[in-house]
Parts: sequence; structure tokens; C-alpha cells
Amino acid sequence: MSYIQNIIENLKISYPIQNEFHQAVTEVLISIEPILKQYPIYQEHKVIERIIEPEREIYFRVSWVDDKGCIQVNKGYRVEFSSVLGPYKGGLRFHPSVNESIMKFLGFEQIFKNSLTGLMLGGAKGGSNFDPKGKSDNEIMRFCQSYMSELFRHIGAKTDVPAGDIGVGAKEIGYLFGMYKKLVNRYDGVLTGKSTRWGGSMARKEATGYGIVYFAKNLLEDNGLFLEGKRCIVSGSGNVAIYTMEKLLLLGAKVIACSDSKGIIHDEHGIDLELIKKIKDENRGSLEEYQVSKPNSKYIAAESYPENRNLIWSIPCDIAFPCATQNELNINDAKELIKNGVKAVIEGANMPSTPDAIKELQAHNVLFAPSKAANAGGVATSGFEMAQNASMQKWDFDEVEDKLSVIMKNIYTTSLENAKIFDNSSNLVIGANIAGFKKVADAMIEQGVV
Ligand code: GLU
Repeated sequence: MSYIQNIIENLKISYPIQNEFHQAVTEVLISIEPILKQYPIYQEHKVIERIIEPEREIYFRVSWVDDKGCIQVNKGYRVEFSSVLGPYKGGLRFHPSVNESIMKFLGFEQIFKNSLTGLMLGGAKGGSNFDPKGKSDNEIMRFCQSYMSELFRHIGAKTDVPAGDIGVGAKEIGYLFGMYKKLVNRYDGVLTGKSTRWGGSMARKEATGYGIVYFAKNLLEDNGLFLEGKRCIVSGSGNVAIYTMEKLLLLGAKVIACSDSKGIIHDEHGIDLELIKKIKDENRGSLEEYQVSKPNSKYIAAESYPENRNLIWSIPCDIAFPCATQNELNINDAKELIKNGVKAVIEGANMPSTPDAIKELQAHNVLFAPSKAANAGGVATSGFEMAQNASMQKWDFDEVEDKLSVIMKNIYTTSLENAKIFDNSSNLVIGANIAGFKKVADAMIEQGVV
């Protein structure tokens, strides 16, 4: 058994049911195999054995009282994975599927994603199995306050800086920040994704989606393709999906479908983004409402999907942007996309494609952009928010967007260069993993065994 296989097997024995975490670690370790052979120093310093264990994991109870006066209990997490390149940094996810495996896979990915931005950011992730869907604002506020009443002792502007993720937007960040400030009696830049009225960065809300499209543009143009007029499918309808669609439309692409957990909207006339924003952003409603205003569109209920299929990927398109959640695009979906002539798959969500789906797409020469490179624009802009908070400055929208587009171009070029040097290919999965890993690994060696 190879050195790497051995580590993966041991990881599975140590954490038997953490499948998403195994998947994220396996992808990175297989990708970096060429440099482990070339640079034995990493093995000598046990960099891999160290990097796959979080520096610290915090698990806590979150109890709160709902509007009916009933006591509710949720699980709270913060996985502080690596502080080698900077303070722990990464979002909070509030979703019923949250468990230790999901937190660890996200925290692990975040280390390399943050490294790729070139900013001083460590890697972390947190969240809760709390479901904000169907909760009143008061319930969300009480939950956030209870969550922060434990988390506050572990975070700080120079220690650990959480942000949003699925289920956590500006509203939740506001409630979390209010409680943090009350508890520590200080106005710190301890969270990013804050309202632009009181410390948030311009363009942070748009950054993940816009960055994904910048990444796609770089990749396509390098391969003689353009976004204009391309038929795009964007799964999801949360923050990432909405601003991916917005930038695609601004750059002349056509978005023909998006989705939520309950179903898909397929609109051959082109998705009306303002309507989606109204349904989702303002009311957290169901996409089914779209059809009421747009009777020519088609709604496909998730209940009707065949086993192991997500029907959004069977709609013919040029470019697919999985922007909903992990493992939402599997091998069957990949085959369907290929059959329908897809040219590129750009990952917007974290780890949305299964490993065999990625293999299949790459084997058929579909351009493939992995999430830790393509969606790093969100956390990069969080880095900008931290810089603005620390220097008490406020940059305008265009300044932030310009910086974001430069970072996305750099991530693309660095990932490609590393793929060429170490794998003699243009495989961006390998290139991004190697580029992200090398920086962290070299810093770990320089900082000693701690
Ligand atoms: N949750 C986002 C991500 O997956 C953003 C994290 C952040 O801004 O800290 O990268």
C-alpha cells in the first residue's frame, strides 16, 4: 500500500462515518502525490499526518426558545483547521444536514482555498444543524444569540473570523455580531459578510458568484471559448447561485435553469433574475412561485427525480455551474451533461461533484474548474473586508471588484501553472490542490512542530 493510501485507510479507521471528510482528503492527497515524491521533506516532516487533523474542534450545545415558548436544542460546531497562513477563516453553515463530517470536509477544503487567494488566511468552518427555513426573524435572532454566547470565547479579529455560508447571510451575521459585541464590549472586525452600513465590504455579497464567473471567463478564453450567448445552468438559488447568474447575465450569457431543494425552474426564454431574487432573497419562498408569473417556464419537482439523478443536469447546456451543495452532481449527471454536449463545468458550491463525476468529465475533455479555486472569490473578499476593518477604511464597489478579478485571474494562472509543472497537464484539480497545499506545507515546516 502506498504512503498516501495508508494515510487514507487510517483516516477511515479513525473517523469511520465521516464520508465527506474522507472524500475531501482523498481528492487532495491523490492530487499532491507527484510533489510528495519529488519533495521527500514533506513526508519527513509528517506534513500530511499533521494537516489532516484539525488544530482544534469545538462542539457545543445551542439551546434557544422558539416563538411558541418551546425549548429547542441544536448542535453547534467550529472546526479550526489550520492557522499556518493567518487567523482561522471560513464560513458558518446553518442547515439540517450539518454534522462533524460536513464541518471537517469544509474546514479542510478551506485551508487550500484560502491559501490559493494569496492572502493571510488560515482555514476553518463552523455551523449548526439549525434550519433557518420557516423560522421567524425573532427565532433566528434568538438562535444566533445563543450560538454566539458560546462561540465568542473562541473567535477574534486576529484569532478566528467566521463569515456566512448556506443559511447564513447578512441578517444572521448581524445578529451574531450584535451578540459578540455585547459580550466582549469591543467593536472588532470579528465576522465578515457584515452589512455595508456598519463595517461590511462593498461587493462581499456578490463576490463568490462574481468570482466564479471571472474564473470561468479566464478558463474559457484560454481555450478559445466565450461566455456570450452560452446556455448556462446554475443549480441552487442561494447567494452563490444568484450572483453567479447576475454576472453571467451581465457578461451576455443565457441562464436557462436554476433550482432549490424542492425543484427546478427551466425557462428557455432566460431566467428572470429579479423575480428569483424577489422569491428567494426577500421571502425565502419556493421556486414554484416563479411559474405563477412566468407560465411559459417549466417547474420540475424534486420528488419526480429518478433515483440517483438531479434532473437539472439533463437540460442541454454549454456550461454547468453546480452552485447548490456538496455531491449534487454525480456520475449519471456527468454522463447526461456529456451526452448533451456540455463544454465546461464550473464548481460554485463546495465539492459539488462526486469524484467519479469529475473523472468522467475530464476523460471527455470537458473543461473542469474545481470549487476551491473557482469559488475562492468569496473568502478573498472577506480578506478585503478584514483589511478595511483593520485600517478603518472603506473601499468602493469598483475598487473591491477590480481586486477580486485580479485575484481570480491569479488563482486560475497559478493552478494552471502548477498542473503544467507537476502533472504535465492542464488538470485544474491537481494544479489547485498542489498550489494550495505547497504554500501551507512550506509554512508548516518553517514554523516548526507545533
Ligand atoms: N463560506 C464561504 C466559503 O465557502 C466564505 C467564507 C468566508 O468568507 O470566510 O468560502
